Amino acid sequence: MMYLSRRIRFSAAHSCRIADWTNIQNAQAFGKCGVGTGHGHDYLCEVTIEGPIEARTGIVVNLVDVKQVLLETVGVLDSSHLNHDMAEFKNAIPTTELVAGVLWERIVSSEVDFHLRRIRLYQDRTRFVDYHGGTEMVYVTRQIEFSAAHRLHSPELSDEENAAIFGKCNNPNGHGHNYRLEVTVRGSVDPTTGTVIGVGEMDDILDMEVMRRFDHRNLNEDLEEFKQLNPTSEEFSRVIWNHLLPRFNKVELYKIRLVETANNAFEYYGDNHERPY
Ligand SMILES: [Zn+2]
Ligand SMILES: [Zn+2]
Repeated sequence: MMYLSRRIRFSAAHSCRIADWTNIQNAQAFGKCGVGTGHGHDYLCEVTIEGPIEARTGIVVNLVDVKQVLLETVGVLDSSHLNHDMAEFKNAIPTTELVAGVLWERIVSSEVDFHLRRIRLYQDRTRFVDYHGGTEMVYVTRQIEFSAAHRLHSPELSDEENAAIFGKCNNPNGHGHNYRLEVTVRGSVDPTTGTVIGVGEMDDILDMEVMRRFDHRNLNEDLEEFKQLNPTSEEFSRVIWNHLLPRFNKVELYKIRLVETANNAFEYYGDNHERPY
């Protein structure tokens, strides 16, 4: 089986509010998208198609056809107001989860001869939704950034061995990284809010369990967890996972991805081994 992706961008305005909720309730459910009368996003929609390679042509699907379908179903949203211009949102809230679902329905109900596998819809650089059809299992990813110092050194190894394994990260006085953390949860879309998890609710969890704990800290010196544990990104990922896991109840923590440098990234799924595309 082959998977191929095509991207399309559009800019649109929206407002995510439940009229008879307080500002605090709306902010918990929708984050900044629930504040004020409306605002815009530069959305990025990545459509993944699955299929066998056709022997005669050597391709899965003609990308010229895909481009045309995406222009007619997704591209038409460019410069629109999702609440006012889309019939689907006359009585629903245009959250990223529900917009991804609407785009999915539009694409599959157009006369396409390809099999849609996934829509990844970025609301902005820091939040995206993976939609595979239906509202029962939708994936939401939030990205945060923080800075921390560490020194990688194992007391069980010689100085030469430590230098050979950890390289620059073995510098005796430590050094710092600007870490990027992507946290992915999955669950069903709440019919009232149109979200898998409240945007403000998830941000509060990440603020409490990651930012306040690790941002601008020396991992070796300031964190009890690393008194006996070498703060490699592998161990760090597991520590972050264990802090986050009990905080998600209605949704399932699915994956974390810790980007240590532009060249090194670490993914951890806890006990999950399933890898849907
Ligand atoms: Zn918004
Ligand atoms: Zn390092």
